[in-house]
Amino acid sequence: MGNESMVDKKLLDILVCPWCLGELDLAEQKLTCRECRTVYVIEDDIPNMLIPEARVFCPLCSKEMEKIGEYACCADCGKKFSMEQRIKGRMIDHAEPYGGKS
Ligand SMILES: [Zn+2]
Ligand SMILES: [Zn+2]
Repeated sequence: MGNESMVDKKLLDILVCPWCLGELDLAEQKLTCRECRTVYVIEDDIPNMLIPEARVFCPLCSKEMEKIGEYACCADCGKKFSMEQRIKGRMIDHAEPYGGKS
C-alpha cells in the first residue's frame, strides 16, 4: 500500500460520468463531471459512481440540487430536471418548474 492514490490519470481515461457520459476531472478525492457537474466521491481509492450517491449541481445556477426520485431539483432557481436528461443542454431545455418548497 503506497501513499499514491489509485485513482490516477489512466483510470480517469476510462471513467466517464454514468449520467451524461461526460469527461471527469479529479480533484481533492472527488471526480467532477465537466458536462453536467455531478460530483462523485472517492472512498478508499475507489470512485463511487453510483448516481443515487452522487452530488448533483444545477447547470443553471451551480447550486447543489436535491435528488427526488428520478428528478434533480434546484430550490434556488426553481427548476427540476429529469435524471434521464443526460446532457447539460438537454437538461436546460427540458427544465420544469419545481415547486418543492411548500
Ligand atoms: Zn455528467
Ligand atoms: Zn438552479
